[in-house]
Amino acid sequence: MQWKGIGAAPGYAIGPAFLLLEEKIEVQKRTIPQAEIEREVKRFSDHTSLAIEELEALRESTRQKMGEKQAEIFSAHILLLQDPEFIGAIEAKIRTEAVNAEAALQEVADSFIALFDSMDDEYMRERAADIRDIRNRLLRKLTGAKTASLDDFNEPVILLAHDLTPSDTAQLDRSKVSAFATDIGGRTSHSAIMARSMDIPAVVGLKEITANVKPGDILILDGSEGLVYVNPSPDLVAAYKAKAERESAQKVLLQQLKDEPSVTADGARVELVANIGNPQDAVLAKEYGAEGVGLYRTEFLYMGRSALPTEDEQFQAYKAVAETFGGTQPVVIRTLDIGGDKELPYLNLPKEMNPFLGYRAIRLCLDRTEMFKTQLRAILRASAFGNIKMMYPMISSLHELRQANQLLAEVKEELAREGIAYNPTMEVGIMIEIPSAAMIADQLVKEVDFFSIGTNDLIQYTIAVDRMNEKISHLYQPFHPAVLRLIQHVIQAAHSAGKWVGMCGEMAGNLTAIPLLLGMGLDEFSMSASSILRARHLVKQLDKGRMKEIARHVMTLDSSEAIVAYLQEHVMDKL
Ligand code: PEP
Ligand code: MG
Repeated sequence: MQWKGIGAAPGYAIGPAFLLLEEKIEVQKRTIPQAEIEREVKRFSDHTSLAIEELEALRESTRQKMGEKQAEIFSAHILLLQDPEFIGAIEAKIRTEAVNAEAALQEVADSFIALFDSMDDEYMRERAADIRDIRNRLLRKLTGAKTASLDDFNEPVILLAHDLTPSDTAQLDRSKVSAFATDIGGRTSHSAIMARSMDIPAVVGLKEITANVKPGDILILDGSEGLVYVNPSPDLVAAYKAKAERESAQKVLLQQLKDEPSVTADGARVELVANIGNPQDAVLAKEYGAEGVGLYRTEFLYMGRSALPTEDEQFQAYKAVAETFGGTQPVVIRTLDIGGDKELPYLNLPKEMNPFLGYRAIRLCLDRTEMFKTQLRAILRASAFGNIKMMYPMISSLHELRQANQLLAEVKEELAREGIAYNPTMEVGIMIEIPSAAMIADQLVKEVDFFSIGTNDLIQYTIAVDRMNEKISHLYQPFHPAVLRLIQHVIQAAHSAGKWVGMCGEMAGNLTAIPLLLGMGLDEFSMSASSILRARHLVKQLDKGRMKEIARHVMTLDSSEAIVAYLQEHVMDKL
């Protein structure tokens, strides 16, 4: 059987399906005969000890793989399992109510969870999540509920999930998961973007695949075409193995372009840089031939943990990226862009009807100024160690830009007073990802050093098409004439003020868009690391003068379809 979704990250994988499903553990309440009560208490405490041993092992392996900070979460769980108030209450319930351990555990844990959940204190609310986790761990042990584990497989699996959050995606173990597929999501949802930067083939928006595939079914996942085949014929498997081999051969050829400059056939220079989410991505990006970083999504530093990162942790991460790029190649750090599909549970932000239009990114930072200033300090401190530039996300008006710059000036003053080094001329730019900002680019440009066009959001706001919604993904059109007009206006506004302009939305790595954007005058293209060499190969074959003519003609066309067809015929087919 064949499923068609949206190709989120190119590449092929063949392997068994692993379904990541929300588990519900059923608990039956039973009365225990008096004579067996002590045996039931012992059964509970034996399983508690086993859970502690399991958590200790998990803490150790997490410490080795991901560091002290991530391992701490397991220490908190161990402490809870040793807490006499919690464990004592469960044992008391078994004794006084003569009930089975599962039921006593569930009732006591649920009352603790309800209590902590109702508290105002952020720290206490996080404890509720910890109790939920250990409740489930203990219930699985007591009931013997078997949940599939990645360790049950000897070969890498293809992971299937209804949805994967960006932090789930970040934690995927590449040695165990060769590809993933989800029921929902679009090409520019953040898990899709991360799959591209992790170079893990992925298909999203498959609608109901998780309900129709059984664990262990053999799958072929084609991330380039957005296809998933379930239990394919041996012929198809052979054909895909051959495709995968051809692809790796092409990768080897492209590797030769790794250290070459990105220059067009007529000698025009552009910058091909990477979008990254953490310092490890930077190392990978460098290997893929990136000439720097055009977008460092710092929010990933804030995810998968239970409290805000400190100034020093942030400083270390930013400095590491600057140093990976030799202290000379540019690294554009974007300030925190939380909200939309990127959640931070510990900030306890209220649920919103329209999170993409809500309390997010710069709006949140201008409200929580202490948190924002900590990040600004860290970025400024790191700027003493490399070619760091900084930009604000989601700017919609000049007023917001001025407010952010005012805070930046305050932080600079504090650092100067404390005698802490930073680069006083660090370039500061903004993302252009809201149509209002694109429209007033000529006004904004006077107060920035550069623009970076964020087409992922710019497209969704311009056409009013949710970037996450697979049902309307056909309407999400980078080549919509309205989007192209906004892009053209932004580039012209920047250039007339003598400023540079880049693009860090996914469109910048789209092979059909690159010739057009080059003709429109874009200076910097920032994309998933795995797209860079292919983009360089393309740029080297293009003539910028000719692309200017192509762009001029494209701007006279009146539909996305006509524009794509024209670019195909007059550029792509001629290569
Ligand atoms: C964008 O909106 O184009 C962008 C690069 O930012 P993000 O994808 O993180 O929203
Ligand atoms: Mg954005």
